[in-house]
Amino acid sequence: MMLSGLDLPKPLIEAYGKKGITELYPPQEECVKKGLLEGRNLLISIPTASGKTLVAEMAMHHHIAGKVNKGPSKGKCLYVVPLKALASEKYEEFSGKGVRIGIATGDLDKRDEYLGQNDIIITTSEKADSLLRNNTRWMNLITCLVVDEAHLIDSENRGATLEMVITKLRYLNENMQVIALTATIGNPRLFAGWLEAEHVSSEWRPVDLKEGVFYSDTIYFEEEEKKIKTPAKEDDTNLCLDCIEDGGQSLVFVSSRRNAEGFAKRMAKALEKSGFSDPALEDIQKKLEAIAETDMGKILASCTAKGAAFHHAGMKREQRHIIEQGFRDGYIKVISSTPTLAAGLNLPARRVVIRDFLRFKGGEGMLPIPVREYRQMAGRAGRPHLDPYGEAVLIAKGRDMANGLFEEFISAPAEDVKSRLDDESALCSQVLSLISTEFVKNNDDLVSFLKRTFYTFTNKKSSHLSDIVEKAVSYLEAAGMITKIDDRLFATDYGNLVSHLYINPISAEIISTVLREKQKTLLEIKRLGEVEDIKASDIGDLIKTEPAKTTKSVNPVYSIDSMKQVKSASAKSMLKKTAFTPEDISAVFSDIGLLQLLCKTPDMYTLYVRKDDLPVLESFYYAHEDELWMEISYDTMEDDFRVIKTAMLLDNWISEIGEDTICTRFGVGPGDIYNVVEGMNWLLYSASRISYMMAPDLKISVSEVELRMKNGIKRELIPLIKLKNVGRVRARRLFNNGITSPLKIKEANFDKLSAILGQKIAGQVIKQVEKEYGNINNTEIIINNTEIKKEHTLREE
Ligand code: ADP
Repeated sequence: MMLSGLDLPKPLIEAYGKKGITELYPPQEECVKKGLLEGRNLLISIPTASGKTLVAEMAMHHHIAGKVNKGPSKGKCLYVVPLKALASEKYEEFSGKGVRIGIATGDLDKRDEYLGQNDIIITTSEKADSLLRNNTRWMNLITCLVVDEAHLIDSENRGATLEMVITKLRYLNENMQVIALTATIGNPRLFAGWLEAEHVSSEWRPVDLKEGVFYSDTIYFEEEEKKIKTPAKEDDTNLCLDCIEDGGQSLVFVSSRRNAEGFAKRMAKALEKSGFSDPALEDIQKKLEAIAETDMGKILASCTAKGAAFHHAGMKREQRHIIEQGFRDGYIKVISSTPTLAAGLNLPARRVVIRDFLRFKGGEGMLPIPVREYRQMAGRAGRPHLDPYGEAVLIAKGRDMANGLFEEFISAPAEDVKSRLDDESALCSQVLSLISTEFVKNNDDLVSFLKRTFYTFTNKKSSHLSDIVEKAVSYLEAAGMITKIDDRLFATDYGNLVSHLYINPISAEIISTVLREKQKTLLEIKRLGEVEDIKASDIGDLIKTEPAKTTKSVNPVYSIDSMKQVKSASAKSMLKKTAFTPEDISAVFSDIGLLQLLCKTPDMYTLYVRKDDLPVLESFYYAHEDELWMEISYDTMEDDFRVIKTAMLLDNWISEIGEDTICTRFGVGPGDIYNVVEGMNWLLYSASRISYMMAPDLKISVSEVELRMKNGIKRELIPLIKLKNVGRVRARRLFNNGITSPLKIKEANFDKLSAILGQKIAGQVIKQVEKEYGNINNTEIIINNTEIKKEHTLREE
């Protein structure tokens, strides 16, 4: 089927033509035949690189051109991806074809109304969920929803969110076309049935894929055998050397970062020994060296110089980009990777070696990876137009094992997908958001809305559904996030806040319980005679059960509505009068205590504890026992230590310990630091919003840690970090030179400031201080021909 014969906008056909795409691949043709351009829902499960994205793109352009809908919005499309990195990849792919593309992956409590101006909005499932929770208007105008990697509805952590996003959007936009793109799954009919979709499935691939098992010196494919040379001792190295000698590149999937790094080192040596070299690798090495701050970064640079690299989530984003590009350009010959690379990134290679097909699962030992994951890795084999075929190879230790691997992976059926809404905490969070956004008004609404989910579609017993809904509602009511008046369910201010912040209600409860407890202790320390009878918890309770009256916005400290409920005059006066000294606060507040609390919530990913960590963790525990807020119990020791380790790392980060030292101390990579800091930033922001409502006297202390976490600084740098263009490094330099506050900047002489910050930044900082802290009238300084006046005294600070 020729593209030119389809009813598609010209710019799109021209853009495809420029890439040499003029005719549809067979599975794409089937999609068109099954109603792609007539607004039909489709579940498309075809192999990687067989043109799924292109199919979705055609449908979206068809909508945007107004060929499907006649309503107020002729065509607006939402493209949901599982990872932020993929959102950027798709953004680039969709750009430049005559339609407006937007990308929504930012903060989770923003509505991003402006994004509604776009024709296609690319987003992650979490961001889509948060846009829905924030009642973003343009979400009601979506006419075409594309769900990339839709089988992730089965993902343990994130599947429930994706399921609710699909359900809510279908509820909001009745005639919306749904296009679900999935890997091969075991129960496509059931999934398609839920989506009311036609199913398109095919094994067709643009490049042939041969799957086989390597044993001794031979790859056993289904229909042929291939003997290879074995110059090295290890099978994995030999498989890569053989492929490179034949003009190809290899990807090697291993189970851990350590294995990925270990393999790349070994492969680099083998490549050097084989005489392989390429001058272009020197440039890549230089780029990597320039950003290598840790041993890991240096190892990466030196391996890459020989043509072998590794790829995992512990690396910096720039490092990963350089490696990906070096591989796409054909210079890097081998990448060893953890399975994360298989999840979506478009980085094919002639030969994919699936070396570690067993994975450790806590409590169950080493288990085979799911077939779906194997397929995803194997699917990376073969670059369209570049390789004559792709090869996916498993490595066996013996003949018997080789047979087993065929059965276990190559000829095994893919697993079924199932709903993850049965997870209580995920359900609680979704129920809260349904009530908060007024999607539902009472229990009956709730049950009938949830009947639209994949969960109910696959578990038809609705009595079970009523039970779990009842349970979630009771939990939320007891936590004070919702309240029932007659039959009606309302979210309280607190409930609305939690829903907007997009944190798990269980996390919010953990945080608010402890913070309220601290606030109460503070009040007890003060023991204001006149208000002794009012306890902080009483006030907290009043706030908790007060339904939000008008808008969805969250009222600040002791909201006006709630204040009206505080009947006692003495309680009001207490709220006004309580002023605590830093000593009072430090008696109840500690940085590490707060970090421990937040690391303990289900929203925080915590670090794995190695054997080597135990002595350090124990001594840290004894040294800081008094500052910790949560007890360590024998039963949950393993989790508690993970929490302590993560909190310790974060404490190091806000104590300005160098990245390299943190990496060595905790056995992590710079990417891990970035990930835990990013996760903690959101929780600190949430905690500061919760404290504003529940524990107002701790708000400043929480916000300070929030600011320090964002910048990786000690408390003493806070006054300086607030200045524009002053980050952690410059602030530290200023401080160490005796310039400890904006006032000191005003007092400093310009030459001294320029020596510390450079002329340009010094000029900008002076200007800023001058603007924010008073006029400068005495001295004139010339910087880059710009006059900047400087004053020596502050009017007020
Ligand atoms: P998937 O989403 O299934 O991984 P893509 O849609 O990204 O696959 O397509 C993979 C590659 O094949 C892309 O480079 C794309 O431009 C190209 N491609 C897609 N459809 C065709 C076609 N009909 N003819 C030629 N190339 C195509």
